[in-house]
Amino acid sequence: MTFLTEERRMIQEQAREFTLNEVLPVANKLDPEKGDIPMDLRNKMAELGYFGILIPEEYGGLGLGCSEYCIVAEELSRGWMSVGSIIARGNLLIGSHKMSEEQRKRYLPRMAKGEFLGAFSMSEPNAGSDISNISCRAKKDGDSYLISGNKYWCTFADGADFMIIIARTSEAPPGKRHLGLSMFFVEKKRGELMPGCSGSPIPKIGYFGWKTWELAFDNCRVKAEDMIGEEGQAFYYATAGLETARAHTAARAIGLAQGALDDSIRYAGERRQFDKSISEFQAIRFKIADMATQIEAARQLNYFVCEQIDTGQRCDKEASMAKLFASEMAERVCSEGIQIHGGAGYTTLHSVERHWRDARLTKIFEGTSEIQKRIISDRLLGRGRN
Ligand SMILES: Cc1cc2nc3c(=O)[nH]c(=O)nc-3n(C[C@H](O)[C@H](O)[C@H](O)COP(=O)(O)OP(=O)(O)OC[C@H]3O[C@@H](n4cnc5c(N)ncnc54)[C@H](O)[C@@H]3O)c2cc1C
Repeated sequence: MTFLTEERRMIQEQAREFTLNEVLPVANKLDPEKGDIPMDLRNKMAELGYFGILIPEEYGGLGLGCSEYCIVAEELSRGWMSVGSIIARGNLLIGSHKMSEEQRKRYLPRMAKGEFLGAFSMSEPNAGSDISNISCRAKKDGDSYLISGNKYWCTFADGADFMIIIARTSEAPPGKRHLGLSMFFVEKKRGELMPGCSGSPIPKIGYFGWKTWELAFDNCRVKAEDMIGEEGQAFYYATAGLETARAHTAARAIGLAQGALDDSIRYAGERRQFDKSISEFQAIRFKIADMATQIEAARQLNYFVCEQIDTGQRCDKEASMAKLFASEMAERVCSEGIQIHGGAGYTTLHSVERHWRDARLTKIFEGTSEIQKRIISDRLLGRGRN
């Protein structure tokens, strides 16, 4: 069966055209200035339905699958990974499947329209790969909870319309540190942090277009009804949607690597040395061949993972493989892209350096490369004592 059906090809072409016309010019201007993704661009994405690809039609979304979601994310990331990422802030709300019917009716239609986008606050200074070490507390106070503690790496904390916060509501039983965590879905004003929460942006080296925050919660009051699912079960909710999140990250890595390849092919055709286009040198031609081969291998693996997800098959190992392979590939490919550009690649005048900086992040977030290897090896060898 062909993965790229006629319908998917149309979705791909539309997203590609949108990226070339709308995303790339904005990225080339704003990334060097560390500017935020403009509202105008977000509105255009919303019109195309990109924030609701995975949201069921009955709630105003497109009701499509992980395959279409990744096709669009790949194309958008060809231009700017941050734009390929922001669609997750409507579509892929970890835990949204655990929402009550009332919460779904209240939130999903606005998310699908792109007018209600979220931030996800799980990581902490001492809880990154090891999320069971979360120490931020939520203490019951009448019909509210009071959240106190420090969070780290919360992307879009300021720009979001809501925040998903994972906090500890009870002590974990001995040997079961992952229990006792709860998930809260909290509405907030766009453009500011919520009352009881202060913070500052972390000085990062890429993934511009939005800010990533260090946050301090000090008795931040949230309604008890804002809890998603059951108390104490957030670890399971946060890890439940990971296959799709990893396929999405793989798609982003593939997209930006394709962007680096496209730019490198164009540059190699234009740049002349020794009275020739550098694309005539075998050293450059072979680099291009290697880059294209690696991208296609990652893409086909990710297509397979998307199909598995969309047909309801278990694929945690394969999703980790796709995320690992695509992100490691993207950094190598973008680095070769810089090499093909020579000195020009080491400037902010060509987007290949943006792709390289963003590729580096894909090896770190949504589970580091080492954590992916741990998941894969645990499946092959049985659980290790690491
Ligand atoms: C730009 C950016 C944006 C982010 N956005 C968000 C966000 O919006 N929301 C959010 O909640 N989080 C976010 N994160 C956090 C991200 O998910 C974490 O950085 C990531 O999970 C890694 O955690 P850490 O940084 O604490 O690294 P650590 O977990 O401290 O890892 C350090 C090193 O040790 C290795 N390591 C750790 N444990 C093991 C192990 N068991 N076996 C082998 N090696 C191991 C890691 O692979 C890594 O090489 C963001 C991060 C960045 C950089």
